[in-house]
Parts: sequence; structure tokens; C-alpha cells
Amino acid sequence: MNKVSVKTPIVEIDGDAMTRVMWQMVKDQLLLPYLNMSLVYYDLQLKKRDETNDKITLEAAEAIKKYGVGVKCATITPNKDRVKEYNLKQEWSSPNGTIRASLDGTVFRAPILVSNVFPAVRTWKKPIHIGRHAYGDVYKNCEYRVPEGGKAEMVFTSNAGKELWRGTIQDFKGPGIIQGIHNIDKSIASFAKACFTYAYDQRINLWFGAKDTISKTYDAQFKKIFEQEFETNWKSKFKEAGLEYFFTLIDDAVARIMKTKGGLLWACKNYDGDVMSDMLGSAYGSLAMMTSVLVSPQGYYEFEASHGTVQKHYYKYLKGEKTSSNSMALIFAWTGCLRKRGEIDKTPDVVEFAKNLEVAALETVESGIMTGDLMLVATPDAKNKQVSTEEFIAEVAKRLQKKLE
Ligand code: NAP
Ligand code: MG
Repeated sequence: MNKVSVKTPIVEIDGDAMTRVMWQMVKDQLLLPYLNMSLVYYDLQLKKRDETNDKITLEAAEAIKKYGVGVKCATITPNKDRVKEYNLKQEWSSPNGTIRASLDGTVFRAPILVSNVFPAVRTWKKPIHIGRHAYGDVYKNCEYRVPEGGKAEMVFTSNAGKELWRGTIQDFKGPGIIQGIHNIDKSIASFAKACFTYAYDQRINLWFGAKDTISKTYDAQFKKIFEQEFETNWKSKFKEAGLEYFFTLIDDAVARIMKTKGGLLWACKNYDGDVMSDMLGSAYGSLAMMTSVLVSPQGYYEFEASHGTVQKHYYKYLKGEKTSSNSMALIFAWTGCLRKRGEIDKTPDVVEFAKNLEVAALETVESGIMTGDLMLVATPDAKNKQVSTEEFIAEVAKRLQKKLE
């Protein structure tokens, strides 16, 4: 069989734990036998980030800017326990946070739908896509543990050295905590533009929720910028296409989402998108049934799985126990990346390969062969069979092989 050639190198970012194990299996069995591709490899496993003082994370982000398209495995964001477990120099920040801050942009997530898994919410008939702003807020915060009574203030000094503003956060009577977060008009504007563009391309309505009644400056600025973008660039286009832009309070959006039919893009601020995409992923069947892509305003793309490193399964794997972890989101990260690469390079055979791999993966689940997470939620059927992490990938490989013959 002739291998399909990928014209431009792909930036490959490896990760941690169970996803690292699955990553290698997916590459070995579903990609490398069929593709001639050059991979620009960055190993972001925790140990390597520690060794390089996290420089490797920044280098990976730079590589995506150079080549345009990358694919990333899940990585551990260390906490105090991990610092001990991995004997780290420090509690390194989230690699996703670092890469997103460097590329800016919006993370779009959509459920991977199969005919034998119904969403937990009965009214959802179509996918609910999430557009998560990937810059700033709590992910690029400045925070402090207040040790004793005292005054916490927020000060803004202009580049000209003039103090333009000062406000009291709190007069502390005893210990507590403070946090400063920020965002940038330019980043919010590109978030808004990316969301309108995505919704229009997919011909779905756009919802945006924020808490501007409480946060009358910060969240209100998001609302204002979205409105400006809509009024200036999309109002007539949306009207012609029969589409709606709908702003509402974030809590109202959450309540309404539970009653929609789906088929919409839900634009979320960074934290809302982090939390709500996990809720959606799990409600559509499993965290592993969700695609995720970071789209930067300059047109760089980073594809990833939206779930974490599946730590619990990894500890079982290390003990030699059988695992049943789902590699769908990792497979779709690779196919998303290959499809985009093929579109940019104008190599239809690469796009075609990505499609074949996706169909092979979907058909495997629809034929009843699935991992434990899906067994719990799939429509009961005598043909359903729970398989191990390895067996699932081998089953996809079998179907892929047939399609390519
Ligand atoms: P997680 O890895 O997403 O796993 C949470 C639970 O969801 C798992 O224990 C498992 O449930 C289920 N699950 C997730 N992915 C699955 C899959 N592919 N197949 C089957 N079940 C799956 O979240 P976490 O345990 O909170 O985080 C672990 C590590 O991942 C942390 O160090 C965190 O920092 C990191 N993380 C990384 C990313 C990223 O790089 N994109 C995102 C989130 C978290 P059961 O145990 O019930 O089977
Ligand atoms: Mg999350």
C-alpha cells in the first residue's frame, strides 16, 4: 500500500500518563503505517518540563507559530502532590495555559456523536459546540495569600508613569486571599470574531453568556465587544442566513442550555468554557467523546483532546492491571490536525485519510465495540462488548486497514 504524504511538518506535542501511553499506540497503529509525515516533536511530559525549566513549553508554542498546525497530548498541570511525586523544582503552570497565552485565540469543542450513545439531556438532538476564550482571566492571574490584617489595593500606572487609578480590594482584618485577573480588548475582539465566524460557517446560532450585572466593568466589556462585532460585521449576514446572536446572563445561559435542542455555538469566557465543556462532554457520553481545537487569530491551529491524562487509569496500567481507556478524543485530535494540514497544503488525500480514520473509529463504537466509559451510557444491546485500551485501538486499526485497501 502506498503511504499518504503529508507535505508540511506537523508539530507533535507529547504528554503524560495514560494519554501518553495511548498517544504512542495511536501513532504506531493508526498513523505511522499509512502516512509519510515529518513530525516536529516536543516532549512535554512533566519531567522534561522540569528539566528545561518549562522552556520546552514555550518552544512548542513557537513551533506551532512556525508551522501553523500542531497536535497535543494531555499533560499534567502539577499541584503540591505532583511536586512531591515527581520531585519537581517548582509547581510549573499549566502548559495549556502557557500555549494558549502565547497563541491567543479561542478553543472550539464539539461532541463526537455516535448512533448508540444518547445525550444525558433528552432534549439535545444536535451537538452543542463550545467556544472557549483561551486568553487571560484566572488562567493568567496574579494571586496572593494574605497572611494577616492589612489593606489590599489595585493600582494602575500608565506607561508614562502616571498613577491613573487606585481602588481598595479589601481592608483585611485577618488572613485571606486576593487575586488579580486581566483581559485585553484585542483578545476579546478576536474571540468574538472567531465565534461569529465559526457559528456562521457552521450555520448555527451563537449564544454568549457573561455576568455583566455583577461585573459591571470586566464582564460588561466582553458584552460590549461582542455587540460591536455583531453590529459591525454580522448583523445582516446572520439575518440573511436565519441565524441569531443571543446574549444573556451566564446563569440564564446555563439554565436554557438544558432545554435547547442543541445545534448552537455557546461562546464562553475562559473559566466558564473550562467547566462547561467538561459538563457537555460527559453529558454527551464521555469526556473522551469531545473534540477540541485552539484557533488563533493569526490562523494557527492546535488540536488536542479536551480531557486530562486519565491519571486513575494510568496507575492501574502501571500496576499491570487491564485498563479500558477511550482513545477517541486523541484519535480525533490527530484527524483534526491532519484534515487542517491537508486543507492548508491542498492535499486532498490527507483530508481523505483523516476522514477514513474518523469513520473507522465511529464505526467501531457503533458496532458495539467500546471502552468502559461508553459501556455505561450506550444503548444496551447484546452485541455491545467492553474492550481494553489496546483492543479498542486494534479494532479501529482493522477497520481502517479495510477502508484503505
Ligand atoms: P481526566 O484525566 O480528564 O479524568 C477524569 C475522569 O474522567 C477519569 O478518571 C475517567 O473516569 C474519565 N475519563 C477522562 N478521560 C477518559 C478517557 N479517555 N477514557 C475513559 N475515561 C476517561 O481529569 P483529572 O483526573 O482531573 O486530571 C488528570 C490530570 O490531567 C491532571 O494532572 C490535570 O492537570 C490534567 N489535565 C490535563 C488536561 C490537558 O492537558 N488537556 C486537561 C484536563 C486535565 P473514571 O476514573 O471514572 O473511569
Ligand atoms: Mg476542564
